[in-house]
Amino acid sequence: METPDGKCGFSPASFEMLRENFNDEVETDRLREAVGKDINEVSSNWADFKSLTDLDELGAEYTCCRDIWKNGRCVWHARENGKDRMFLHRARQPPKDTKVRAPQHRFERLDGVYLKGADLRGIHLSNCTLTGAWLQDADLSDSDLHGADLSNTLWGGVSARNANLGNASLTNIRAGSDENDFSDAYLVGADFSDSRFPHSNFSGATLTGAKMQNANISDCDFSEASVGGANLVCSLMNSSDLTDADFPNSDLTEASLEGCNLTRADFRDACLKDSKLYKATLAGMNINRSTELGNKCYYETTQNDTTADDTPPLEKAVWIYHAYRELTRENGFPSEARHFYIREKDVLRQRTWQRTLLYQGCHSYVPECIQRIGSRVASIPSKILRGLYGFSRRIINLPLYKSLSYEISRRSTRYGESPWRVVTISILFIIVSAILYPLSGIQRSQGTSTITYSSDMPITQVMVESLYFSSVTFTTLSYGNFQPVGWGRGLAMIESFTGALLMALLVFVLARRATW
Ligand SMILES: [Zn+2]
Repeated sequence: METPDGKCGFSPASFEMLRENFNDEVETDRLREAVGKDINEVSSNWADFKSLTDLDELGAEYTCCRDIWKNGRCVWHARENGKDRMFLHRARQPPKDTKVRAPQHRFERLDGVYLKGADLRGIHLSNCTLTGAWLQDADLSDSDLHGADLSNTLWGGVSARNANLGNASLTNIRAGSDENDFSDAYLVGADFSDSRFPHSNFSGATLTGAKMQNANISDCDFSEASVGGANLVCSLMNSSDLTDADFPNSDLTEASLEGCNLTRADFRDACLKDSKLYKATLAGMNINRSTELGNKCYYETTQNDTTADDTPPLEKAVWIYHAYRELTRENGFPSEARHFYIREKDVLRQRTWQRTLLYQGCHSYVPECIQRIGSRVASIPSKILRGLYGFSRRIINLPLYKSLSYEISRRSTRYGESPWRVVTISILFIIVSAILYPLSGIQRSQGTSTITYSSDMPITQVMVESLYFSSVTFTTLSYGNFQPVGWGRGLAMIESFTGALLMALLVFVLARRATW
């Protein structure tokens, strides 16, 4: 590429820029792989990079050609910190094919410009290409960057307060640890995909329809931001402050929101399927019937949780279901609240079974128990009773007992949520008892004939009488016109006791349902 004398010869594809821009370990490897040589041996010749398709987008056929300002570079490209906006503005280059003058011209190429600490307040750079620019500590407040291409730029400590970044491309950005300020910025339709913007301030910003797929926006302040219709699929927003933020219609599928503050945030019509909300504050969060929380949470379905902490996924699942239960109840969706209650109990059941299996694998508990009894027995007699009580408590608290009690609760009443199960069990109990009674015999109180399978009565009548007796015993009505004989008396005792218990359970389950 020829550069006229006295003009800036900056080519966006020059090796120097690429190397500094792709300073990441991974990117360097990628570059080395693509070039096929060691990075230090590669010349600054553009031809070496032709094979890199994604680097072609940086503008292979473009050279700067603005007037030289310092060190062979124009004012935009020179390595000088804290440039003044008047200098930058004067050096704007109108496109070759139009006669339109600065600053109204569009689609200006400003690839790889060096704007560290530059003052760019209120500057008009809409639809310009600024790929690979250095923007650390720059002041972009009140600037117009609408539709600008800012992909692959370097951020950190940038102030974009009240800036217009609508439809701007902010993809693949690597921001340093310094906070970027996007407060009150207009970011409608902006594309933040694959970017890293931790610790940034988005308070009061308008992010409607923004794309934040795979973006790292953890520990950010989104308070009072409007994020309606945004694509936040797989985004990383851990520990961010989303107080009073509006997320209507947003897609947060598989987004990581662990430890976020979502107080009073609006998630109506949003999709939170498979999102990771462990330890997030959901108080006063606003959802509606179209808000998708998914049937099962991420932590229950995943086998290997990728999030960094040591908490087992099932523990997190219990937490999430409990939080969802409260959330749906607060928002007035009792059937959803019931669903999450059942899921919570189901995960607890799974967890206790897991522990039971673990317990069976480790026998250290048994000697500990023996030691416990030993120490208790050896101590003064007054302690023996307490020791026995403690030991029985330990036995009852054994994971196996817990697992079994969960299992019974699940099978009998679906953790106290299904009256139909109680009714079904009751009917089954009555029928089974009715089949058993004639084996021992039932006696009419007035007559002397005993109803058994071997009596002269037809089998249907035996069954009808027995069923009547069984129902009357179950409901503890007992008119006294029938009485069991033999071991049937024992069965009648068990049946009336079970009947009373199941009736009480039915009342409990029905009353529970009414309180959701
Ligand atoms: Zn230049």
